[in-house]
Amino acid sequence: NNGDRLQKVIAQSGVTSRRKAEELIVAGKVKVNGKVQIKLGTKVAHHDKIEVNGIPLEKEEPVYFLLYKPRGVISSVKDDKDRKVVTDFLPDIQQRVYPIGRLDYDTSGLLLLTNDGDFANMLMHPKHEIEKVYIAKTKGIPTIDQLARLKKGIQADGERLRAVRTSIISTDNKNKKAIVEIVLHEGKNRQIKKMLEAIDAPVEKLKREKYGFLTTTGMHPGEVRELTPHEVKQLR
Ligand code: URA
Repeated sequence: NNGDRLQKVIAQSGVTSRRKAEELIVAGKVKVNGKVQIKLGTKVAHHDKIEVNGIPLEKEEPVYFLLYKPRGVISSVKDDKDRKVVTDFLPDIQQRVYPIGRLDYDTSGLLLLTNDGDFANMLMHPKHEIEKVYIAKTKGIPTIDQLARLKKGIQADGERLRAVRTSIISTDNKNKKAIVEIVLHEGKNRQIKKMLEAIDAPVEKLKREKYGFLTTTGMHPGEVRELTPHEVKQLR
């Protein structure tokens, strides 16, 4: 996310029209982080402090949504091939929200969406150690030892990938498939798929069942709801 154009952000805050916002920028009436900014189209991020005529721009009301992302949906706010994106599931709102992290196109499960940049950054930091529980159906049956290796960590594409806990939930010996649970603190690109590939049990189907204390239990794919203020506080 490289931010939005300054005039758009001003207009969306409701203080004035985009046209008028452009005039104010050119006239030197707009400051970004304390400095006059007269260039139209300057990109601003969520944390940038914007002033119009010396008055700080009202911050958007923060909103927090929990989505049970179905398979076949892109974890982004827009897709150039017009495929379904996660924001398609939200109710009609003023705020521009974006997903906190991502799930692959073919992965289902819990995804948070917000316009609160600080909250998103905090949750994405591995130090925060939110537990993410994944349930994978694998082609091939890993041994307990192989799965346990993932806790020490493996090296894939120059990155160290580590699991917090792993377990085998069930096996289908006839078809050589297994259902495994893997818990991560990290959220690296295609992490579960790379880890299971590394132990010769590639992912056939993947779901993120839990995000911290939040769970898909009782939700159906495509369902979305606002987090309660209490839930937001618990995640912080
Ligand atoms: N790990 C993956 O491989 N894919 C996801 O979507 C999430 C975690």
